[in-house]
Amino acid sequence: ASAKDFVLSVEGLTVSFDGFKAVNDLSFYVDENEIRVIIGPNGAGKTTVLDLICGRTKATDGSIKFRGKELTKMKEHQIVHAGVGRKFQNPSIYEDLSVFENLEISFPRGRNVLGALLFKRDREVVSKVEEIADLIFLKDHLDKQAALLSHGQKQWLEIGMLLIQDPELLMLDEPVAGMSVAERKQTAELLNKITKDRSVIVIEHDMQFVADIANRVTVLHQGKVLSEGSMERVQNDPKVKEVYLGH
Ligand code: ADP
Repeated sequence: ASAKDFVLSVEGLTVSFDGFKAVNDLSFYVDENEIRVIIGPNGAGKTTVLDLICGRTKATDGSIKFRGKELTKMKEHQIVHAGVGRKFQNPSIYEDLSVFENLEISFPRGRNVLGALLFKRDREVVSKVEEIADLIFLKDHLDKQAALLSHGQKQWLEIGMLLIQDPELLMLDEPVAGMSVAERKQTAELLNKITKDRSVIVIEHDMQFVADIANRVTVLHQGKVLSEGSMERVQNDPKVKEVYLGH
């Protein structure tokens, strides 16, 4: 397949921090409708890779093509606009607003929070908010103040706030950290559902969760791909065992 068949093509990606290459000549490709999980020991460069894709960190070298567009030359908000959503570890929801309002202000129209709230609630927005709330298991909590949600529900709400912008690529950093077993299962269900029309990249440590969601796993080590393939393949890779178990 040529690069344009992939949703995301990362090639020769490198970033140096004072001469230290946190990401070092990294290449990987993400297909349509794929859930790609990135694993690897602390300091492997996982977060930096997501930072590079979303434009928060500028690459020293290499290319990141999303739907044929070169992201390394774009600013963070342009990358969001191109269809790349990123969720960080700590939810950035509006605690004082209701679930409904959090989703409503994330609907792509005004940039300004107050402006969005003053907007008349048109049917299109309401039905989209309801659709997303259903997807993220919060349809019975639309009027609840976000501050009163459980930790897991807050994570879902933030995923919903990204989904309402309809990204083609969604990137999540440890989405199930701190969640209960039941919430982890529901999150796996959610991710499997939303990849019917988008791709997802997830950084994750919970191997049960990885097994429940991953189409393919990329193992990073020292800013490079150590191993890649099915969960089973990478788990049985002697190079991976050596890095994780030290033998
Ligand atoms: P991971 O997410 O896999 O734990 P990171 O991407 O956070 O790894 O970090 C990879 C390496 O790059 C680490 O050694 C980290 O200290 C370093 N690093 C990350 N960001 C910066 C930065 N802004 N300045 C200097 N070093 C950084």
